[in-house]
Amino acid sequence: MRLAWGPEEEAFRAELVDFLDRHAPKRALGLDFATSEEEGIPEWSRQWQATLFDHGWLVPGYPPELGGRNATPVQTLIFQEEMAARGLPRSLHFPGWAIVAPSLLEFGTEAQKALAPASLRGDMVWCIGMSEPDAGSDLASLKTRAVLDGDHFVVNGQKVWTSYAMWSQKCFCYTRTNPDVPKHKGITVLIIDMDTPGIDIRPLRQITGTTHFAEVFFSDVVVPRENVVGEIDAGWRITMGSLAHERGGLWLQTVSGVDHALTDLVGLAKRTGADGNQAVRRRLADAYAQVSALRALGYKGFSSFAQGSSAPEHSYLKLATSELQKSLFELGMELEGPAGIVVDPAHHEGAGRLAFSFFTSFASTIAGGTSEIQRNIIAERVLGLPRGK
Ligand SMILES: Cc1cc2nc3c(=O)[nH]c(=O)nc-3n(C[C@H](O)[C@H](O)[C@H](O)COP(=O)(O)OP(=O)(O)OC[C@H]3O[C@@H](n4cnc5c(N)ncnc54)[C@H](O)[C@@H]3O)c2cc1C
Repeated sequence: MRLAWGPEEEAFRAELVDFLDRHAPKRALGLDFATSEEEGIPEWSRQWQATLFDHGWLVPGYPPELGGRNATPVQTLIFQEEMAARGLPRSLHFPGWAIVAPSLLEFGTEAQKALAPASLRGDMVWCIGMSEPDAGSDLASLKTRAVLDGDHFVVNGQKVWTSYAMWSQKCFCYTRTNPDVPKHKGITVLIIDMDTPGIDIRPLRQITGTTHFAEVFFSDVVVPRENVVGEIDAGWRITMGSLAHERGGLWLQTVSGVDHALTDLVGLAKRTGADGNQAVRRRLADAYAQVSALRALGYKGFSSFAQGSSAPEHSYLKLATSELQKSLFELGMELEGPAGIVVDPAHHEGAGRLAFSFFTSFASTIAGGTSEIQRNIIAERVLGLPRGK
């Protein structure tokens, strides 16, 4: 089998590479993840997101007025892979461009759709209010109550793990509007301005020492009725939205991210002399074989996706790439040894970055569906096994 891109795709890639060489920030994914509550979303990330938007590279499949260039699915895939291979995020703040804007464009009123460009460019900062203390994997159990009272709702309840809540202007908030129907029904999405009286934001500190998410408490928060996204009680279908046209390449993008981490690790093994150690060599070689296999699986899934079929491979890729990435950073910590936790670059070149990446890597085995939930999905929907008790 021979995989190669055609001349048109190569021309697209050349234009992208030229843009990246000229504009991309010299910072890598994960290493500068919102380092403190005070710092908020780093300025370099804000500028980079706006630059991508202005040059039509933020969401290539969108039209220019939405920060894109009407790219085809294959071109989008090239973009995703090239960015990941360089360890480049589009932004350190994903809710606005990746979740809220696509959902507003699909389900919003004309006034709500008009918020999309600023949300994509990063000028309007959003948080997503889904998870609650008793509603995470089982999101449909959410209890934050919104009661309609004339021309407004009154909201009471609590969200948790709300990324960027303390720096956001608006919350894309999932609320319970009808408690008397099956739990997937009776959910409504409201746009809530974060400076509305009655909102209490309590930042949560992570194991990395950074603070990028929070608990959010709502006490008699008044929200205008026109802030409903979609229809009242029909919010569940909005959870399924967001950049559907990019999904085909999404997990290939994550494979490229893991490949990037592996390349760094091989460099570290060489620098530390661990490349002569048989056990380390075996682990690196195993990881290389896994990355290669996952990439092949990703291309197979992408090809089904591009032809309009479902791609069950993608359920496995989320699970496999997030777990592999975690094990690679763990190996990196072992290679660095005790020096790995020294954060002062004057005393250790790594400046604690691998330890930071290791702790951060747990996030992708949880967010967007935990590894256990992914295993359930594979068992039930891909393999057709009976539901567990
Ligand atoms: C970095 C990060 C950012 C996040 N940002 C946001 C955000 O901005 N907004 C937001 O709303 N949420 C956010 N979340 C929350 C995330 O969506 C939830 O953590 C996730 O859905 C899991 O829910 P939970 O934490 O309540 O765990 P639970 O659902 O309580 O699960 C606890 C454990 O039980 C396991 N488990 C649960 N159900 C099953 C089952 N049926 N079978 C087998 N095992 C099961 C899980 O795998 C897990 O190990 C974020 C999470 C992370 C890590």
